[in-house]
Amino acid sequence: MFEGLSGRLGDVLEKLRGKGSITQDDVNAAMREVRIALLEADVALPVVKDFVNTVKERAVGQEVIKSVTPGQMVIKIVHDALVEMLSGRIGSQVEDEEDDAEARKRDRVAESLNLNATPPVPILMVGLQGSGKTTTSAKIGLRLKSAMRKKVLMASLDVQRPAAQHQLAVLGEQTGVDTLPIIMGQQPVQIARRALDEGRKGGYDVVILDTAGRLAIDEELMEEVAEVRKVTNPAETLLVTDAMIGQDAVTVATEFNDKVGISGIVLTRVDGDARGGAALSMRAITGRPIKLMGVGEKMDALEEFQADRIAGRILGMGDVVSLVEKAAQSIQMDEAEKIARRMEKGKFDLEDLLSQLRQVRRMGDIKGLLGLMPGVAKMKKQIDAANIDDSMIKRQEAVILSMTLRERRHPEIIKASRKKRIAAGAGTTVPEVNKLLKQHQQMAMMMKKMKKMGGMKGMAERMG
Ligand code: GDP
Repeated sequence: MFEGLSGRLGDVLEKLRGKGSITQDDVNAAMREVRIALLEADVALPVVKDFVNTVKERAVGQEVIKSVTPGQMVIKIVHDALVEMLSGRIGSQVEDEEDDAEARKRDRVAESLNLNATPPVPILMVGLQGSGKTTTSAKIGLRLKSAMRKKVLMASLDVQRPAAQHQLAVLGEQTGVDTLPIIMGQQPVQIARRALDEGRKGGYDVVILDTAGRLAIDEELMEEVAEVRKVTNPAETLLVTDAMIGQDAVTVATEFNDKVGISGIVLTRVDGDARGGAALSMRAITGRPIKLMGVGEKMDALEEFQADRIAGRILGMGDVVSLVEKAAQSIQMDEAEKIARRMEKGKFDLEDLLSQLRQVRRMGDIKGLLGLMPGVAKMKKQIDAANIDDSMIKRQEAVILSMTLRERRHPEIIKASRKKRIAAGAGTTVPEVNKLLKQHQQMAMMMKKMKKMGGMKGMAERMG
């Protein structure tokens, strides 16, 4: 896991406390840390250089407010500049008051897209294979349908991979969005024409064209996609890229922008633990806005791009904002506080695990949530490896429920014979019981570590 900018700057700037204002030397020292943090987050070097220069100018001479540390002050300046650069807007984004209304959020996804053209409005989806193009096509289709009552038709132009065409058809069925019937042997341009034709005849508002991807950029692909774009004249050409793409982001975004022409970017797998530097590189290098972000595999896991969240990621501060918001929606606060207090003491027994499992289940996508927590990336890998899902959480609950209260408080007293009974009681096996106990041990150890770091609250406070 990355140390994160807060930790780095804390050390560099601590000595500045009480000095009044930030000098050129302080800024230079701080910017060395900012550079490293950005490079570690996979931001491309030229972008890092530009960014650091902008921030340097802003930071020099800034007064250090008494209530915060100079480190926090610099983080704020860097964070705001990042948000500006990512969003293309000046000043931090203050969302309007309806921010929390879920319905409004949905609308904002649809509203991020330009649909100003004579229907059927073509939207072209481009990007590398595996970037999440097909999934995102269906997510957009569903959102336009449900939030804006648009009649949407989707078509797969991937003639190389019949499986991809089939995948879109399946997602279409799942979301209730129409897909163009597959005719084998047609070329991408022919399919695109047929889709628009069908769109006109069928009275569709939007036609989403999901183009073929390749594992890497290749000329043939670029020509094919450029040709489709020329023929269809789409209102949006969206480049779909995986947030994990790293340094390749620059090549991919440059190539697609130069050879095909894009109108915006969709960043997928933002629910993972990628640092998100690719977003900054792509935004800076193409000048195209990042419009949407994919935050899970489910069809409703699509949000409008939120620059401040990605900025927090890039700076290595975890996505605490999202975490807090998401938790607030579904956690029963008193119980959560109880756990938090115990966590701060570094205590975490199986009773705590049980209430946490229940809350996690209430919160929905467990993997998505874990990715948001600072410092949990490593644990998430273990959990991925252990293949945790909803049904697994239910099984784990059953195992804990089969224990006595004393066992839950002191798992170390559970002997082999009891494990057999517990397994039988929960309708599972002894290895499953052992696995749970081992996971609990690892979590308890992590809680101890978090205690050293000052707990979640401490982490949030350090962010300022
Ligand atoms: P394509 O080859 O570009 O069409 O990629 P797909 O749409 O087939 O996506 C590849 C895989 O990524 C699928 O398993 C998707 O479920 C998954 N995926 C797509 N978007 C996201 C996302 O935002 N988050 C997560 N976790 N998975 C995603």
